[in-house]
Amino acid sequence: MIVILLGPPGAGKGTQAKMLAAKINLPHISTGDILRQNVSKGTPLGLQAQDIMTKGGLVPDDLVNKMLTERINQPDTKAGFILDGFPRNINQAEELDKILKERNRQVSSVADLDSSEKVILQRLTGRLVCRKCGANFHIKNMPPKVADTCDSCGGELYQRSDDKEETILKRLAVYRKEVADLLTYYQKSNKLYHINADEDTDIVLNNLIAMSKAADDTLKV
Ligand code: AMP
Repeated sequence: MIVILLGPPGAGKGTQAKMLAAKINLPHISTGDILRQNVSKGTPLGLQAQDIMTKGGLVPDDLVNKMLTERINQPDTKAGFILDGFPRNINQAEELDKILKERNRQVSSVADLDSSEKVILQRLTGRLVCRKCGANFHIKNMPPKVADTCDSCGGELYQRSDDKEETILKRLAVYRKEVADLLTYYQKSNKLYHINADEDTDIVLNNLIAMSKAADDTLKV
């Protein structure tokens, strides 16, 4: 099963993708996470992406498409995967379909996790991320037990450089510009589900599980 989570920054795609991945036992592929790993390791890809990411723009399609192909080629994706942060535009969606077609596979379902600007700003300006395992916390809504320390692995928590109000608004504008075409693209193939991401985490997760079951009724959750 191949599931795509669409949604503006701050809709909770990463959090939901991690929880859904654990429930249905598939790898979670976040292009943002892979790019951030490349930036922190200082790889050639990371060096090209760093500045663009800090400013809230999109990394060029050819770099991201290549990176995604490499990830999909890894053996853990055989039973399927959950995509978070990809595709971001029609070019990437078409490239994904091409990569999957070459492997006799196709997208199973696409969730449009929509959220209001007020909730997005509140979530992202308080977000803390673990440097080691990527777990997310929130200064007010989900504070770590020990300040600046990840509850799961003890790693250091930090604020993403693109989680500043000005950059969040830029990322939202970039998202809104591209998303209408993407929604139409997936609507045409009857794979699109609209989910209100302002709701509580558990409600959103249950909706995602129901969506996944609709795509594969053998799924045991
Ligand atoms: P995210 O973690 O999904 O919010 O992504 C963080 C940043 O990584 C984005 O603002 C972009 O700069 C970059 N990025 C992540 N995924 C993509 C993608 N599919 N295409 C282009 N840039 C991306």
